[in-house]
Amino acid sequence: MGLSERPDGSGPARVVGLCGTCRHAETVTSVRGSIFCVCRLSASDPRFPKYPPLPVMVCEGYVSVQRCAGRGDGAPLS
Ligand code: SF4
Repeated sequence: MGLSERPDGSGPARVVGLCGTCRHAETVTSVRGSIFCVCRLSASDPRFPKYPPLPVMVCEGYVSVQRCAGRGDGAPLS
């Protein structure tokens, strides 16, 4: 699940960085408002931590959720 950025740029997507729009990410907000990202790629590739330190600004595994839109099977377009 990706996170939407607020119009003023202060939203949670800025806090999590790339994970906010990555198809491998599952973002969770605690009752105290802390944001955690679970990287599902970590289950199959040890290079990626299950809980990446945020914000993630550069990542080899990043795949934009927008690249998967419209394909139906969720796979990247390229
Ligand atoms: S692959 Fe990278 S950008 Fe995507 S969820 Fe994992 S750590 Fe975040």
